[in-house]
Amino acid sequence: MELDKMDENDWKYHGEGNKSLVVSHVQLSRVLRLLKYPAEDSENPPQTAEQAFRQIQNIVDFSSNVMSSLLGEKFIHSGEVVKLPLEFVRQLSIKVQHQRPAWRCDKVMDIYSGCALCLPNLTSPPLHQPTHTPPLCIEIKPKCGFLPSSKHVSKDIKAKVCRFCMHQHYKVANGKWKRRSLYCPLDLFSGNRQRMHFAIRHLIEEPQNNFKIFKMRGGNAYIQPLIGNSQASTNNFPSSGQCIYSSKEGSDELMDLNSLLHQLRPYFLHGINRINSHMTNKAVLNEFIQVLVNALLGGGGDEGVVTDRQGEGRSFCEASLFNKERIRNGSQCLPSDSVLFRILQTQMLDTLDIEGLYPLYRRVEQYMQDFPKERTHLQIDGPYNEAFLEKLQKSLAEDDGSVEYAVAKVHQYRVAMTAKDCSIMIALVPRTEEEDDDEGLPSQRRLRDFMSSRPPAFSYSVSILDLDPKPFDSITSQLRLDQKIVSCYLRTGGALP
Ligand code: ATP
Ligand code: MG
Ligand code: ZN
Ligand code: MG
Repeated sequence: MELDKMDENDWKYHGEGNKSLVVSHVQLSRVLRLLKYPAEDSENPPQTAEQAFRQIQNIVDFSSNVMSSLLGEKFIHSGEVVKLPLEFVRQLSIKVQHQRPAWRCDKVMDIYSGCALCLPNLTSPPLHQPTHTPPLCIEIKPKCGFLPSSKHVSKDIKAKVCRFCMHQHYKVANGKWKRRSLYCPLDLFSGNRQRMHFAIRHLIEEPQNNFKIFKMRGGNAYIQPLIGNSQASTNNFPSSGQCIYSSKEGSDELMDLNSLLHQLRPYFLHGINRINSHMTNKAVLNEFIQVLVNALLGGGGDEGVVTDRQGEGRSFCEASLFNKERIRNGSQCLPSDSVLFRILQTQMLDTLDIEGLYPLYRRVEQYMQDFPKERTHLQIDGPYNEAFLEKLQKSLAEDDGSVEYAVAKVHQYRVAMTAKDCSIMIALVPRTEEEDDDEGLPSQRRLRDFMSSRPPAFSYSVSILDLDPKPFDSITSQLRLDQKIVSCYLRTGGALP
């Protein structure tokens, strides 16, 4: 990729969130993540090019120096800031505009700074060998996986019903979504396979912005790479993953659940099913979810290591429709090297809840009004380096009334907010016949496949994305939102279906 010779025809719309828009390269496994502004600021960018550069550099630093040490380096790809030709960015913004979902168009792509974050494309995993069926990539935005136990929590309901489930009622009441999702993060983070299965099924049924599936395009292209094609020899990424399943409000091109299961079927036809091609949709769905549960629990062996939750009772959300009595094998816990464990631990750095944190935020704010130069020294807006990490880890158990205590707690809270907002990307690469053959003589293998209903073979890799620092000043709006969500739930909560 040569930055001075960028061509918008090499890039296509890939997806977007609330803060950024992502385009992917058509051949290389690269994405560009560009900032977005509110549409009313489109003529008048809210920050200079230097500020935009600094903002993206902060994202890289926060991800590589802070989040990666908390979540585990193996899951993180921090990327690098790039400076793009402005003409390229303008053409790109025109090109992608018609592919953007209408409900995201209250913001526009930044075409003024020329700055972007360049990242590996996590939806196009490297292929060492051709595969029968194209790799799949599943993105889950799990949200907060625990109930607050802080003594500062003023409403009992917050210790019973999780934030996500309450927020769903608020979003439906305010027209953000037509239907409520029955996904509950506490089930996903439980480590109990049945509860996790239940959670993922509801993510699939009502994906909103919490669940997406990407599929690599090209089909036969990588079974027989074009001989003599220089592109094929320079990389192992035939084409980038394309979103095939997510919130239906996003775009008309996306499929419904039945067509999704139809597409997934070939991945799960094995053993006796391959012979008679018979498999119910329900069985396909179950196997697919099973693969995701395995990937989420996987990590590296020491399964069954107990998380430090105080009591199972607290980790069950009263709004979840999962029937507690269905837990047959007692409670299981998250393996300590699993992606879910690492995310949950980081989320739990929010020990005081926004209600307990807010007075400390005010203390810091007051201090900075009295001593404006201290903002830099306290690293409120970065830099996110080793010193920042030390500040947040050197937290006192008791509040001694100092500004240092308050700052450490605020930093911890902001890190927890990032962990509550990140996404998990699970890349599934179907194993090839040859790899299967390694496990025994072909005749033995065929017999074993035929006789057993052994799960389909995928190799997977798991990453965490969207690790931006949350601005210090967003804490006030966090408190207001929390109050609105809770009072809306108390007003309408149990009543909604
Ligand atoms: P949010 O509203 O969740 O905070 P955001 O605006 O911060 O989102 P991201 O979540 O980072 O933006 O990116 C938007 C989407 O682009 C993601 O949900 C994901 O589908 C896709 N995406 C982002 N980074 C990558 C990557 N490195 N590889 C592949 N896809 C990516
Ligand atoms: Mg995101
Ligand atoms: Zn819940
Ligand atoms: Mg984000």
